[in-house]
Amino acid sequence: MYKKHCNRCFQPSFSSYAGGEWICPICTNDLTTRKAVIASNRTDLTSNYAKYQDQKEVSCKKNSSVSYQA
Ligand SMILES: [Zn+2]
Repeated sequence: MYKKHCNRCFQPSFSSYAGGEWICPICTNDLTTRKAVIASNRTDLTSNYAKYQDQKEVSCKKNSSVSYQA
């Protein structure tokens, strides 16, 4: 779980993924370029899960764009 602090309404917003577009749910300010901080106590679980999600995404992209022959 990641957290960003909005520089307009000063409220924290949370997401399970730190990349991509990030809009403040309270004031719709664009937080995409702001730095995300890890907001969960279960840091290990969260980072492992994020890694797994990344790998899955990469392999999906590979499969859809390139026909792979080993
Ligand atoms: Zn905001």
